[in-house]
This record gives sequence, structure tokens and C-alpha cells, in this order.
Amino acid sequence: MRLGTVDGRASLLGGSGSADVARASGGRFGPDPLSVFEQWDRFRDWASDRDPETGARPDPARLGPPVPAPRQVFAIGLNYKAHAAEAGYDTTGIPQVFTKFPSCLAGPVGTVRAQSPRLDWEVELVVAVGRRAESVAEERGWDHVAGLTVGQDLSARDVQLAGAAPQWSLGKSFPGFGPTGPWLVDPADLDDPDDLAIECSVNGEVMQQARTSQLIWSVPQLIARLSSVCPLLPGDLIFTGTPAGVGNRREPPKYLQPGDRLVSRIGGIGELVTDVVAP
Ligand code: ZN
Repeated sequence: MRLGTVDGRASLLGGSGSADVARASGGRFGPDPLSVFEQWDRFRDWASDRDPETGARPDPARLGPPVPAPRQVFAIGLNYKAHAAEAGYDTTGIPQVFTKFPSCLAGPVGTVRAQSPRLDWEVELVVAVGRRAESVAEERGWDHVAGLTVGQDLSARDVQLAGAAPQWSLGKSFPGFGPTGPWLVDPADLDDPDDLAIECSVNGEVMQQARTSQLIWSVPQLIARLSSVCPLLPGDLIFTGTPAGVGNRREPPKYLQPGDRLVSRIGGIGELVTDVVAP
């Protein structure tokens, strides 16, 4: 099952077609995307019998973020060993947690304004929560996941690292700094949801390439850690961290410029296409 939004409405998406959830369910689910997560188990049962191939395939420009207005967005820093090493940090201890404020979320195909001379890319696996999670054990972590999607944790490095103590969240939350999509994929539909190919390229040149099995803190470990403090709510997002190859750690550093095309991909899920435009 692939769940996304078309013109802001919850929609099932197939290889060649789509189905509007509210219309296909006679109003039982949707069209508000967040409402679907509130009754995730019932929705999943219903959706498993649907054929999304019957409707027309939407223009990709009509796809929005799979969860446009989550109540909480968690993001994890330094969650791949090679990226932590390039950034000059030790990886022992606990996960580094910050937020991307939800107003930064954007759809899978679109533009982002170059709001910073140090605009950088970070492709990430993003988790959407399906069932409320409170002090969940690692063994039950996957039970609380509705779906996986592709995300970009776009970052204005100058803003992120400004101040005596860095303020990661603000520098990662300009409008458009959180493209997600193209849809959520049910982890049960993936051969191994703990081992997905992840990469991003700028103007066709591969910048990051890794596998999600290289995450230091796995998806179930993150659900356990985060839910030990904050209840995780249906529809919440978790950006799970980026692999090595970000621009500000290159020699010389490389940043996104107007005219650049950023493509972010995860095997078994899909891709994001983000064009950088003038501020
Ligand atoms: Zn990140």
C-alpha cells in the first residue's frame, strides 16, 4: 500500500493510477491526511482490498507531503558512523535529537529558495508513526510505524551553527526545507525495511550513497528512545539521519545554488526532485 496526498487529500497511489481515500471509502476515511492515521489499523485493513490502479495517475506536481501537518517532527543527527566522522563527532552515547518545524514540509516535486549561501543537502529515511507510542520497547518498535518515505533535511549551515550553542532546528526549518514523499510505503511491503539503498545527487552527480542498515540507531531503537520521553502520536514524523557526503564537509565545501537539481532516492520507496531557485 502506498499512501500519499493529491491536492492535499489522502490518496492511495499505484504504479499507474490513484484512488481518493474519502471518495473510495464513502467518507469513512479522509480526506484529511492526518485523520487517516488516527484510525490506522482500520484504514490499513480497508486499504489492503483497494485497487488504486482504477483512477487516473496524478501529475507529480499535485502530490504533496504524505503527512502535511504532523503534530511532531523529530529529527536525528549523526546517525551514520561515516557522517559523524566527517562532521568530527563521537557517536557513542545517545542519539542527537532536534526538530524540523512542520511549516518547512514540502511535497516530493518542487522548488526551494536558496535562503542561505550555505544551503546543504541531507537525504534521509523518514518514518511516519501509525499507532501512539509511549515507552515502547525496541522489540515492538516497528508495530508503531505506518510507513516509510524519502525526506530531505535541507540545512542552512550558517543559521544552524550560529550562536554560542548551535541551534540546529531553526537552520533546518525555512519554508521548503523538508521535502518528503512521494508516498508512504508500508514496511510490510518491503523485502527488508531495515536495509534500504539511500542516495542523493546534485545535477546528476551522486553525493551520498549508503544503506539504512548502516544507521547507528535503527528505526525500532529510535521509536523506543523517543517514546521514552515524548508520546509519539499518529502521523508524527521521524527524520532518521543522513549518511556521509554532505556539502559542508567536502574539500572544498560545496553548497546548493539556484539552478541546481537535487534528487533524493530510497530503494523500494521512490524519489524526490527538488529544484533550487533564487531567494
Ligand atoms: Zn539530518
